[in-house]
Amino acid sequence: MARVWNFSAGPATLPLPVLERIRDELLDWHGAGMGVMEMSHRGKQFTSIIEAAEADLRELLNIPANYRVLFLQGGATQQFAQIPMNLLGAGRSADYIVTGAWSKKAFAEAKRFGAVRCAASTEAEGFLNLPKAHDFDAAAAYVHLCTNETIHGVEYLADPVLPGAAPLVADMSSHLLSRPVDVSRYGMIYGGAQKNVGPAGLTLVIVRDDLVGHAPASIPTVMDYAVQAANGSMLNTPPTFPIYAAGLVFQWLKAEGGLAAIDRVNAEKAALLYACIDNSGGFYRNPVDPACRSRMNVPFTLADPALDAAFLAESQQAGLVGLKGHKSFGGMRASIYNALPLSGVQALVEFMNEFARRH
Ligand SMILES: *Cc1c(COP(=O)(O)O)cnc(C)c1O
Repeated sequence: MARVWNFSAGPATLPLPVLERIRDELLDWHGAGMGVMEMSHRGKQFTSIIEAAEADLRELLNIPANYRVLFLQGGATQQFAQIPMNLLGAGRSADYIVTGAWSKKAFAEAKRFGAVRCAASTEAEGFLNLPKAHDFDAAAAYVHLCTNETIHGVEYLADPVLPGAAPLVADMSSHLLSRPVDVSRYGMIYGGAQKNVGPAGLTLVIVRDDLVGHAPASIPTVMDYAVQAANGSMLNTPPTFPIYAAGLVFQWLKAEGGLAAIDRVNAEKAALLYACIDNSGGFYRNPVDPACRSRMNVPFTLADPALDAAFLAESQQAGLVGLKGHKSFGGMRASIYNALPLSGVQALVEFMNEFARRH
């Protein structure tokens, strides 16, 4: 078996011990005589799986008791609509901070549901930094932001401190569980699982109790956080297999020492890759302000774009895949999530140094 180093932004690489465990349990989960994909979501066996997953996630993130954990579907993109549907309330407004492609999309979608404002945007400067000032509306129902912009490689490297802001609603799709987070500083945290948490098909929502239950009567039942919370995310069939796999990722993270431990590894990985870029004498370039360079998604360009094709072909041959940049950014992007170990980043840096020497 030849596993590659997979730098794909998502769906992305998963921890090898988790994949091996899934393989071992695929046909027969804990003596059930069937696999998790084949189980009733209402049965005792799956109930124990989803309860353990929630307990482990609560432990990892230290989630306070007054927050609900929801295991939903539809991806972060569905949340772009579901958030205003649930949280906007009658006649209220919400503030959006736009720091890259994803928060811009969230803002555009929210406009379909009510009066929303842009409280700050870094688009004019090319999404290379975080806003220095905000124009918050004191009456806003919430403030939406994306704490790690997967495409532009811009990250809030600590929980944001935003005086005067309404409850923060954070899209953490691409860095959830990459470091400790003070959940109590947010009204809601959400993300698609397929970046840093598990397989595609699962969307995590962590929402404070007092924000739930204000949706208009016209909201589709399946979209209502209050109904999902009251039914333990089982109003209808939840994404059982992705919940099981994410639960194994939570167990793996705990065994690795939790989020403080993975945070240290992630810091080391990112420092190594950015140093390679910055010390390349201009051969590679990342234009993002170092104060907010993403530790998960590292976009970079080659000084000579004519070398892009050779870089991609040769890196692929070296067993390094998924490095092609997003079409809106060009160049390359290395996503270095929790499951991509330091040795994978070392292999990439070695290749990059050697490629720069040869060209
Ligand atoms: C990938 C991504 C999304 C979109 O996620 P889907 O699950 O495909 O809807 C939204 N926000 C961020 C920050 C992302 O990285």
